[in-house]
Amino acid sequence: MNLLVLPGDDIGPEITAAALGVLERANAVYSLGLDFVQREVGVASFQRIGTTLPETIVEEALAADAVVLGPCGMTEYAPREQGGVNVPGTIRKRLDLYANIRPARSRPGLPRALPKLDCLIVRENTEGFYSDRNMFLGSGEFMPTEDVALSVRKITAKASKRIAQVAFEYASRRRRNVTAVGKRHVLQLSDGIFITQTEGVAAGFPNVTWREMDIDAMAADLYTRPERHDVILITNMFGDVLSNLAVAMSGSLGLAAALNAGEKHAVANAGHGSAPDIAGKDIANPTGLILSCGMLLDWLGNRHGRADLCDAGRAIEAAVDAVLANPAQRTSDLGGGTGTRAFGAAVVTHLEKSANRIAHTA
Ligand code: NAD
Repeated sequence: MNLLVLPGDDIGPEITAAALGVLERANAVYSLGLDFVQREVGVASFQRIGTTLPETIVEEALAADAVVLGPCGMTEYAPREQGGVNVPGTIRKRLDLYANIRPARSRPGLPRALPKLDCLIVRENTEGFYSDRNMFLGSGEFMPTEDVALSVRKITAKASKRIAQVAFEYASRRRRNVTAVGKRHVLQLSDGIFITQTEGVAAGFPNVTWREMDIDAMAADLYTRPERHDVILITNMFGDVLSNLAVAMSGSLGLAAALNAGEKHAVANAGHGSAPDIAGKDIANPTGLILSCGMLLDWLGNRHGRADLCDAGRAIEAAVDAVLANPAQRTSDLGGGTGTRAFGAAVVTHLEKSANRIAHTA
């Protein structure tokens, strides 16, 4: 299987190197048969060839079995017409990665980790308020006059139905509960479609309970009663905001794992940004991207019926948990003094130890 690796900008290359080290070790100890090809995107690509994302890379991503993408520093890019293409946004659109899966789980002993938080945010990833990708042609944002700007939020029955399907499938494998989040009494038509589709999908999952909540009430409820929430089904922009809040409540934005998935393609891309304020210092927390890679292996395992890939994905998550359990091995965002490289190496060591244990007990 071919994995395309795109390190991105700022902390992207540092955390991608750590995550790739973990993936390469998992590949070796579980004999997964993965091949990795690394390519430049973002500022490095722009400086070399005048675009942050050449079409050839999109074609390679379409041809690959899966993609690992580091965070990209889009706010520093030139305008789109001058080569500053939004790399994650374009890849999500071109690969039709309609589901953004973002877990937030509090691990014992982590500073700021809110007890009983263990949720999975299933965020619609192709439409909503994301004006750079929510239209077939043109932009969802425009200026009819020089002092008026309009942003159009697009919600379709098709996208709402397929993301609801993903949420209920995950819920049926977890604690069998979905919270569908919108603001229906204000956004009556668009969130009306979203919730109507959710109702239709819910009818096919009689063992999964669900409730609807407004986004403002949800933000408070997630903080005050986190144990009530298992899978959170949510539209694009609300989901982006709520998932950052949820993962910060689990300890740090550096823990933000995320999988972008569609029918045929999947991309591991952490839920945080490129953190230019800490780039190049070997202090970024690579946990989010490492866990995203574990989720990617799980997705590949389910897609191809390969239990070894799912096992390796679970082993990566267990190795991360084991490293985070030791305060001395944590990165600075979690109060520790371990650097990006050393954290990645510690996860690799745990992965090897657990594989050896399995080999001995087999
Ligand atoms: P950010 O997520 O990059 O950073 C917010 C804060 O969290 C910063 O203080 C940062 O240091 C910290 N942080 C983030 N990731 C961390 C990690 N792994 N370890 C430790 N601390 C971490 O958000 P921002 O500053 O608003 O955005 C920076 C750039 O990232 C922007 O150009 C934005 O467009 C881009 N961005 C990219 C993606 C993506 O590639 N998927 C997503 C969001 C933002």
